[in-house]
Amino acid sequence: MLDLTYNSPKPKVIAGAKHDWELVIGLEVHAQVATKAKLFSGASTLFGSEPNSNVAFVDAGMPGMLPVINEACVAQAVRTGLGLKAQINLNSAFDRKNYFYPDLPQGYQISQLYHPIVGEGEVLVEMGNGMARLVRIERIHLEQDAGKSIHDMDPNMSFVDLNRTGVALMEIVSRPDIRGADEAAAFVLKLRQILRYLGTCDGNMQNGSMRADVNVSVCRPGDYERYQATQDFGELGTRCEIKNMNSTRFIQMAIDVEARRQIAILEDGGTITQETRLFDPDKNETRSMRSKEEAHDYRYFPDPDLLPLEIEQAWVDDIAATLPELPDAKKARFIAEFSLSDYDASVLTAEVANAAYFEQVANGRDGKLAANWVINELFGRLKKDDRDITDSPVTPDQLGKIVGLITKGDISGKIAKDLFEIVYTTGGDPEALVEERGMKQVTDTGAIETAVDAVIADNPDQVEKAKANPKLAGWFVGQVMKATGGKANPAVVNKLVVEKLGL
Ligand code: ADP
Ligand code: MG
Repeated sequence: MLDLTYNSPKPKVIAGAKHDWELVIGLEVHAQVATKAKLFSGASTLFGSEPNSNVAFVDAGMPGMLPVINEACVAQAVRTGLGLKAQINLNSAFDRKNYFYPDLPQGYQISQLYHPIVGEGEVLVEMGNGMARLVRIERIHLEQDAGKSIHDMDPNMSFVDLNRTGVALMEIVSRPDIRGADEAAAFVLKLRQILRYLGTCDGNMQNGSMRADVNVSVCRPGDYERYQATQDFGELGTRCEIKNMNSTRFIQMAIDVEARRQIAILEDGGTITQETRLFDPDKNETRSMRSKEEAHDYRYFPDPDLLPLEIEQAWVDDIAATLPELPDAKKARFIAEFSLSDYDASVLTAEVANAAYFEQVANGRDGKLAANWVINELFGRLKKDDRDITDSPVTPDQLGKIVGLITKGDISGKIAKDLFEIVYTTGGDPEALVEERGMKQVTDTGAIETAVDAVIADNPDQVEKAKANPKLAGWFVGQVMKATGGKANPAVVNKLVVEKLGL
């Protein structure tokens, strides 16, 4: 079983105001479902295709076209729900949300307002130093994405690209459990990590595969505890929703500036109007976009072209049986199995590919040493070349052998770095390379003794100085290492130098 014992961080208190204020944040994350085809058509979801090349008649809103649900999208939503330890609703349904959008030709978005496919779940957001926030998930529903209007290609015309129109999105709605801008960013990253582990969303925020609407309010100390006790939103402040954020840095900036805006209004005796706002990173301000719309403004009604969605528990169980080991479990296991620090385990489990690579290196070897080599040497070297672990020139088997050679005492850490560089640039079997190139560490005391004697005999002045100042023994160690081409075991050299100089 997992042993996840954490303390909740204190809520962020905003400085510089007349009173103390606490932040309350809830996120609605839109994650593009990783599937080949769209939610209700067979058109491709491939990013970066020629504009309007991935558009079926149903996506273009042609009269008489009927949507057909894509089973793969439903399976991905269920998988995501299971990964977030959420309730899976065997009965859900699609509703029409009516509005005019030039890049959604149907004239409505098919979504799930009343009966979402996934119910309550949770995400553990670690904040370092043994602190973590457990953020409750309220629901996940499936809905269609809109296309893209392009206004900057022509001074007199706008263009529309419908490739994204009808692509499946999961809207993942959190409870207002997030209490700081840093927690909001960490929540998005944790969610992204879980979705990537599950393979249900590629998490590419730059391409817009993950976007968040950020709801922000402020309250006075004590208010939140009353909300927790009663679950009555009336205990909290009025929120504003900042739309469509796809960078964790901007999310943090937007929350900070929006909280300060609300506090200034409240301390001036004003009230907050619930509304939708946009963040402008250049001016570092949020601006009103529209007043908050209510469900009735959209004239929601069950989509008459689609049957209610009924799935079977056995099918859900089949999906559950294919879930991978998820980040929290993997991290806890790495700490227990390989005696890793919390930090190293986090770094190694950030991406599945990193974790799999590390496990192969560490298999049957010193886990801590393996972690050091993967994190410091390999990741460092790959970063220098702007390469990914998936195209690392050094295989886990090769790096494992290098780690094994160090543990056996065959090579020193310094020689190991040279060996790593050789393997990285020209390949080869590390064990054979060590033999061929005579890189083996000399632990034979006789050979090292000869080298130490020679250095002492050649440097009588240094010997005198070292006798007066034992710190200079290091100079002798350095000379012996040089003379032996770095192959002498440094511990043995050190011991002999100290002995021979009588320090
Ligand atoms: P809507 O459907 O109108 O957007 P919801 O009740 O679904 O409203 O809430 C949307 C988001 O707002 C959720 O993520 C929720 O956690 C968050 N939220 C609700 N009340 C507050 C509040 N007082 N402060 C911050 N976030 C809030
Ligand atoms: Mg909303």
